[in-house]
Amino acid sequence: MDEAPTLDPTDWEAFRRQAHAMLDDAIDHVRDLPAGPVWRPMPPEVRAGFAAPLPVDGHPLEDVHAVFRERILPYHSGNAHPRFVGWVQGGGTPVGMMAELLAAAMNPNCGGRDHAAIEVERQIIRWMRELFAFPDTTTGILVTGASLANWMAVVTAKTRALGRATRAQGLADGHRLRAYTSVATHQCVERAMEMSGLGSDALVRIPTGPEHRVDLAALRSAIAADRARGLTPFLVVASAGTVDVGAIDPLGEIADLAAREQMWFHVDGALGAFSVLAPELRGLVAGIERADSIACDFHKWLQVPYDAGMLLVRDGEHHAAAFAGEAAYLARGDRGLSAGAPWPTDFGPDLSRGFRALKVWFTLSVYGVRRLGEVIASTCALARGLAERIAREPELELLAPVALDIVCFRFRHSDADRINATIVTDLQVDGIAAPSTTRIGGALAIRVAIINHRCRAADLERLVDEVLVRGRRG
Ligand SMILES: *Cc1c(COP(=O)(O)O)cnc(C)c1O
Repeated sequence: MDEAPTLDPTDWEAFRRQAHAMLDDAIDHVRDLPAGPVWRPMPPEVRAGFAAPLPVDGHPLEDVHAVFRERILPYHSGNAHPRFVGWVQGGGTPVGMMAELLAAAMNPNCGGRDHAAIEVERQIIRWMRELFAFPDTTTGILVTGASLANWMAVVTAKTRALGRATRAQGLADGHRLRAYTSVATHQCVERAMEMSGLGSDALVRIPTGPEHRVDLAALRSAIAADRARGLTPFLVVASAGTVDVGAIDPLGEIADLAAREQMWFHVDGALGAFSVLAPELRGLVAGIERADSIACDFHKWLQVPYDAGMLLVRDGEHHAAAFAGEAAYLARGDRGLSAGAPWPTDFGPDLSRGFRALKVWFTLSVYGVRRLGEVIASTCALARGLAERIAREPELELLAPVALDIVCFRFRHSDADRINATIVTDLQVDGIAAPSTTRIGGALAIRVAIINHRCRAADLERLVDEVLVRGRRG
């Protein structure tokens, strides 16, 4: 009689030796990364290797691992490197790496049912509730990132405004709901409006003041004008750290306004919500504890490996009203695996979900929030130091105030946009540093976002030195 095919090793000891070699490689990679280039372009012949056809017969694990070492590992995106300061990206940790391995070993499906992985996630939600001083009606869920969390917040606010029946009925033609946010809010909120069916035309973009914070007077009058036109303001989205410059909207005042207007108050805290972990920064996000919902990202300032974001909702009934459903094949019980309702799937769009919570749990458990808060505060101190250096260099110009850990500047030049864009690209291509760019008041800026815990003052000195050399070359 033929044996049924298996995907497990026939020789577990041989597998163990190979697995240990792979683990050693992973540890070496993280340890040695700072000595290598931040990033390197992938040579065409390496890229061409990915055109290999679908494997019909498999290859030995060691051979596939060798291909990984040669063609994949060296061409990383650089975000773990000390001089990666582009976009808004965390660097990961060796602890998070190990947690990913253990999570994969357990391989639970975290959509629901009664098992420990779900309890780990619930514990994280309780910890976050404590951190943001939310009440015990709070629910939350881990998701890929703040883009998805912001979308879920829009859907939850919409369902509260229109009633649960809107889930069955859909939106009426020419619905009258309006949401408000500043022009500096992340683009994913616009996409959230699109994907919620409300449409991004229903998102009113409010101008910002000189500090890049939302103009409260303009926000108040936009809401009043829309009410006078018979529209229904239902949601205000504030940023705890705008993506361009790290500005923090006046959260307390917005909370007052939202309460008066009976609007849902959502905070996009992807960048800066974890300011609450650092005593010297906590005051900057005062008022976040009054939000109806908060989106945040563990994979940025908390250095959890990608991906890990979260939505936290003050009133779990509104949260469940937006997402919970029923199906015979997902019936909940009192005992056995089907116990433990409500399940994570009741609070978001996913059914099958990985054990994202474990790497967050390991990170919080091993480092503790005091140390993580120190890391966060130190990225802000580095940003202030960088801004001081820029102020001392007559050839450089700071383009926005530094609120948190983001510094926007440029090399002064008659053709500044072109020169500064070239400087950034060349720094990346040469493997020296990886800042990114944005536009501040129309001007192209070199944008340095210090999220990564590995960045040091010397890395930023080197970055500025290289900008000066390249700028002078023209
Ligand atoms: C990064 C970021 C987002 C998007 O979060 P993802 O985790 O990339 O989906 C949204 N808002 C702000 C302010 C961000 O910095």
